[in-house]
Amino acid sequence: MKTSGKVWLVGAGPGDISLLTLKAQHCIHQADVIIYDRLVNPKILEWAAKDCTLINVGKNPGNHCVPQHEINALLLHHARTHHNIVRLKGGDPYVFGRGAEEVECLVEERIPFEVVPGISSAIGGLACAGIPVTHRDLASGFHVVTGHTREGNQQQDWRQLARLHGTLVIVMGIANLPFICEELLMGGKSPNTPAAIVMSATRENQRRLTCTLGTLLSKAQEANIAPPALIVVGEVVSLSDRLSFIPEVTQTRYCESCS
Ligand code: SAH
Repeated sequence: MKTSGKVWLVGAGPGDISLLTLKAQHCIHQADVIIYDRLVNPKILEWAAKDCTLINVGKNPGNHCVPQHEINALLLHHARTHHNIVRLKGGDPYVFGRGAEEVECLVEERIPFEVVPGISSAIGGLACAGIPVTHRDLASGFHVVTGHTREGNQQQDWRQLARLHGTLVIVMGIANLPFICEELLMGGKSPNTPAAIVMSATRENQRRLTCTLGTLLSKAQEANIAPPALIVVGEVVSLSDRLSFIPEVTQTRYCESCS
């Protein structure tokens, strides 16, 4: 029987390399091939072995470098020719990362795989910007939704989402921000609901814009929003000044101790 390597679907966390799991770090050390995305901090790739093949399949907004079927084909090709293949994705690989589609393709071809979860920007990224997704008095739950749905797929029902309690976290939503704000307001969400945009969470250039749902669009237009960015709507945002902090172990220091 033909043997094949194993594919590790690894979450690279939200950006700060010290937020990677030990297992993810181990996978990267052992990898013969790493196929990585745009949101992966390139410093992580410095942990790879010298002879490891690094393949960038990063998709920039509006500039789709490598189509999904080619990424799948790359995974299958390398799985048949190498031992350890790491498919490295930003955040958690199963949170809007098409990770499941890639694993389905491995399952079909009977390629062994393992999933290494990562800290999602939608939870951990917000925490590092002073925003707890839940709070006993302010939010008894949270919803993480995409602001960008595949063409032909059913669009989000923002008016329905407006009626839910708890924190609303929107990934990939900046391009659609005018529509999202309008629909949430039309759905009955109060314009006074605290809201924020968190850019480059956990990275050195992390920025947070806090306002209310009613002022979010105009503030965002003034603020020159740069991707990647999360939109958060909910009472927990009101805690963000009080709960924000400067991380003591910075990416740079962590890197120095590693090398
Ligand atoms: N799997 C990833 C999400 C992939 S979808 C995760 O679990 O975090 C990509 C979207 O995630 C981006 O468009 C942005 O909305 C959000 N995102 C990812 N990393 C981010 C970061 N460091 N700061 C802010 N938003 C981020």
